[in-house]
Amino acid sequence: MGGRVPAGLAVEVNGSTCRMRGTDHVPVRCAALTGKVGQQVACGIYEWRPAPCREFEAGSHACGIARMRHGMAPLEGTIL
Ligand code: SF4
Repeated sequence: MGGRVPAGLAVEVNGSTCRMRGTDHVPVRCAALTGKVGQQVACGIYEWRPAPCREFEAGSHACGIARMRHGMAPLEGTIL
């Protein structure tokens, strides 16, 4: 809280950790995500996104798992 992410989009987990609002919902959907998954999406706070989002790499193992959870094939070259 109080970082670069707009406060209304962050939920405190404990004294030192926050998560993006919506990421504990089922189905998971970050409150900052715009668009429709599988068609076209964008981060509504791209310039202010938190560190985990900055570190997430397209084509990584985690990317492949996330894509499969949404019914999409992993990106070409993804090692699962
Ligand atoms: S990149 Fe943006 S939309 Fe995606 S999880 Fe992070 S804050 Fe949410």
